[in-house]
Amino acid sequence: MKFTPVFAAALVALAGSALAEEKVLNLYSARHYQTDEALYANFTKQTGIRINRIEGKEDELLERIRNEGANSPADVFVTVDAARLAKAHELGLFAPVASKVLESRLPAHLRTDDWFSFSTRARVIVYNKAAVKAEDVQNYDDLANPRLKGKVCSRSGSHPYNLSLLASIIAHQGEAKAEEWARGVVANFARAPKGGDTDQIKSVAAGECQVAVSNTYYVARLLRSDKPEEKKLMEKVGVVWPNQGTTGTHINVSGAGMLKTAPNKAAAQKFLEYLASDDAQRYFADGNNEWPAVASVKVANPALDALGKFKADQLPVKNLAMYQAKAQIIYDRAGYK
Ligand code: FE
Repeated sequence: MKFTPVFAAALVALAGSALAEEKVLNLYSARHYQTDEALYANFTKQTGIRINRIEGKEDELLERIRNEGANSPADVFVTVDAARLAKAHELGLFAPVASKVLESRLPAHLRTDDWFSFSTRARVIVYNKAAVKAEDVQNYDDLANPRLKGKVCSRSGSHPYNLSLLASIIAHQGEAKAEEWARGVVANFARAPKGGDTDQIKSVAAGECQVAVSNTYYVARLLRSDKPEEKKLMEKVGVVWPNQGTTGTHINVSGAGMLKTAPNKAAAQKFLEYLASDDAQRYFADGNNEWPAVASVKVANPALDALGKFKADQLPVKNLAMYQAKAQIIYDRAGYK
């Protein structure tokens, strides 16, 4: 049979409508863990919505969304740290999402009107067991105590993790105390800030410095490592849950929000709600050795279990976001580079 022009045109029209009906979600993600494949495949299986994933570094993705402006194909932005989520909010990139599912599944302190936390990580104190007594490093305040002069190492004060930690101190103790603390920590530095959290842990183990702070998943990653040198390193390092007698250990989050310019808003909301489901919570948290945001969901993660239970700071993530700019000003004034 020969295709008549009319028939060919009908075929083209058919293909066009099939394309238009295919449901997609454009996900801009700063997460890239092995378990993410299962996380996304499961969503497509449940909803028939295909996920187009654009992966990149946190700050680069944010920049990309800004540059794409009104034409951005991005529906959902997934990233780590309240500071970055807050920045997307400040820039007016997120759309408010009213969802009974998100409201009932996520604790109030872990959500805002337009971005939501799906896992948590804690910022702990690590110390060299041979050089420092555990009782001397039980609180973040101890890092500023002259007793630790020349013993503290740190990553940059401009890094979101440290900005959020200082934001929590501002929220709890006020700006003046927070600045006093930052100055005290700077006075205790063993060296100028450099490297990431893992570098601080390694410096502590090597005795280059004796005390530092780190996110729990870096500690967990080293504890889970099968490299003999990393196992050996962790034998030298003690881990403390700070502020157990007061405000609780500072926690930060991984989270996501729907973009204001999202072409597929219904799919985006479905995806955010899916991230709060039991299965998704397990994948999301365990992929980076974090804790699920939904309280009833438990993960069996030996490295996290080895760290034990702790009291987490219940400060709303909104408040962490609120003091980001102040935190940077204080670090700058204190010379916390
Ligand atoms: Fe990190």
